[in-house]
Amino acid sequence: MGAPRFEEACDDPGGSTRSLRQTSICWSVTKVLRQMTRMPENHRDPLNDIDRESIYWLTLALRLPRDGVRSAFPTEAACLRRLQEVRWPDGVTCEKCGSKDIGLLSTRSVFQCRTCRVQSSVTSGTIMHRSHLPALMWFAGAERLIQARAFPSRDRDIINRDMADYLGVQYEAGWRIKKKLLADLSPAGSGLIRDAICKNTLQLPGDLEIGTTAHLRWLGEQLRPSEPDFDFESMQELFRKML
Ligand SMILES: [Zn+2]
Repeated sequence: MGAPRFEEACDDPGGSTRSLRQTSICWSVTKVLRQMTRMPENHRDPLNDIDRESIYWLTLALRLPRDGVRSAFPTEAACLRRLQEVRWPDGVTCEKCGSKDIGLLSTRSVFQCRTCRVQSSVTSGTIMHRSHLPALMWFAGAERLIQARAFPSRDRDIINRDMADYLGVQYEAGWRIKKKLLADLSPAGSGLIRDAICKNTLQLPGDLEIGTTAHLRWLGEQLRPSEPDFDFESMQELFRKML
């Protein structure tokens, strides 16, 4: 496991991962702008699947912590605490008998039910179950995947390589992690990691019709202020070439 590479990817502000992301954002906003020019303001036609998917992933991306998950959840303990909070908002509950009379085994972060004696942890039964990957890395990988889906690049496969490089693991492991993360983050996914890291609320305008072109356009517009490095002129240039 290449922990140092992971640190580098997180801390290096001028790294190659950043330029990849910038390119992707550029591409995504261009796509939204193209749609804006083609469709009249009052366009009400049902959106296609790709547009609906864009709404989903853009919403998640905008709900991520502004300074990144590493700032919001800087330690393994902070990640586990957050998972516990989201999984059991009313206190730890036994998965087997539903009892709330739970003890924490002090040596490991394992809970034991005082009623039926069954042991569990915050990750049991989730995509992180029996994984050697720390929760910190699941969080970082999830953030990466949400951004990649919200700002898709032309070459989708690069996300596999990107995930492996970002986490400092082999390509195969990166592919498996991505597959598991999708089982959590996708619209029909289990959503534990998604709900743990997408902690910001998104205040939609009251009159905005959900699932429409206007909704997609509004999400596209929210991107710019939150991306201080976003190069609007390059994006316009690219936009002109594509028309
Ligand atoms: Zn129990």
